[in-house]
Amino acid sequence: MDTFDVAVIGSGPGGYVAAIRSAQLGLKTALIEKDARLGGTCLNVGCIPSKALLESSELFYAAANNFSTHGILVEKAGLDLGKMMSRKDRIVKELTDGIGLLMKKNKIAVIPGMGSLSGPGRVRIDGGGESRDIEAKSVILAMGSVPVELPFMKFDGSNIITSTEALSFEKVPERLLVVGAGAIGLEMGSVWNRLGSEVTVVEMLPRVAPFADKQMSTVLQRALESQGMTFHLKSKVKGAQPEGDGLSVTFETEKGETRTVSCDKVLVAVGRRPLTDGAGLKEMHVALDEQRRIQVDDRYRTNVPGVYAIGDLIRGPMLAHKASEEGVAAAEIIAGKPGHVNYNAVPNVVYTWPELAQVGLTEAEAKEKGLPVKSGRFYFKANGRAKSLGDEEGLVKVVANADTDRVLGVHIVGPRASDMIAEAVSVMEFAGSAEDVGRTIHAHPTLSEVVKEAALAVDRKAIHG
Ligand code: FAD
Repeated sequence: MDTFDVAVIGSGPGGYVAAIRSAQLGLKTALIEKDARLGGTCLNVGCIPSKALLESSELFYAAANNFSTHGILVEKAGLDLGKMMSRKDRIVKELTDGIGLLMKKNKIAVIPGMGSLSGPGRVRIDGGGESRDIEAKSVILAMGSVPVELPFMKFDGSNIITSTEALSFEKVPERLLVVGAGAIGLEMGSVWNRLGSEVTVVEMLPRVAPFADKQMSTVLQRALESQGMTFHLKSKVKGAQPEGDGLSVTFETEKGETRTVSCDKVLVAVGRRPLTDGAGLKEMHVALDEQRRIQVDDRYRTNVPGVYAIGDLIRGPMLAHKASEEGVAAAEIIAGKPGHVNYNAVPNVVYTWPELAQVGLTEAEAKEKGLPVKSGRFYFKANGRAKSLGDEEGLVKVVANADTDRVLGVHIVGPRASDMIAEAVSVMEFAGSAEDVGRTIHAHPTLSEVVKEAALAVDRKAIHG
């Protein structure tokens, strides 16, 4: 029987990164993956294909609607959806092939098949009609998550669908209903809205991107509405009935009124759940919490000796970069090093237009914790670069501790917020203050000057506002 120091089950951004870090630390490592391609949800049906389509659809929308403001006259922007999809598929293939190369480079044994815990220090791999066991001193579980299904509206793969199908429509649906205004619902809704679908979003909570700062959610919602998306907030979807080739979806509003919307497809984007049904977890008595996530301690150890868990399987935000950092930390802990993840500095991004990005506490959360809070805001409309880009919508808000000036959170809704949040993450990682950011030289003219001005605004010292 083959013997490894570390066996990782699942090759998403948690698992493949854990495997690379383990190999770097001199541990003999195996990576087990049930799907034909490495890279997990993120590379195959998540982060990467969605961003490829967001980029393409944004260009299409700009060509159709915004080029004329630059004096560029396009008679009529045409859409070759097949080509857009092939571009997305090529990007996914290049990146997933790249993971394969990284595995070779790091001498990691990639074992195709369904992995499961089969005994202490043992993993069974079922695939291609065969079953084999390997021995591993440590096992890292990284099986990720799957979409949550509404019990009264089961996925059928064609009309009632998950984000996976919404990444590969063969034609633009005339009317798309999205259940859930979280990151996935807003991103996929944006893609199809820009390509010409009539998009309606139904959300149970009172805000879009409910995790975000209230003002940021409001600005984002208005921007998406001005692009043509319709929102029904505080509304609960109750069911769907077939109607012609499509569906009639019923939802209940806050006031208890029943409404129906006709659509071609319903994208159910109400969240994802950890994939804890198989992999021998029950048989090996791996403890789950009340939300059926694998329970781990602060060293990613489950209750079963030698078995660790990371990524979407455990508590915390379901994000690729969070999974990867946990992969690094778990590998370092297994190698006897002090692996650590700073959960106060995990950025969260919604790649709509404008983008929404945040790190740390919102003003409301900081107040709830009883912290003394001060904040500063600055708007993109007063920034030269934003004006040149023609993207003036949005603002940056810096939340700081009123006594110490330490940055507690940064919230951005605006152009390229996804890239700009990195500065805020670094500042928070180094326990920096609002004054540190305000006194840091930012190149002119750049969007990042809005972050500097918002930091200055914390003590009412913004120069241009
Ligand atoms: P996964 O990526 O889910 O990987 C798990 C892997 O384990 C899969 O390959 C699976 O096949 C394999 N597996 C499962 N069970 C077994 C088994 N028993 N044996 C062998 N293999 C097994 N996050 C971001 O940070 N940024 C984004 O922009 C973003 N966009 C997203 C867009 C969409 C549409 C979706 C759906 C998700 C998005 N996410 C994004 C979330 C992100 O994809 C996940 O948080 C991330 O992939 C979790 O990584 P993971 O390694 O824990 O699990």
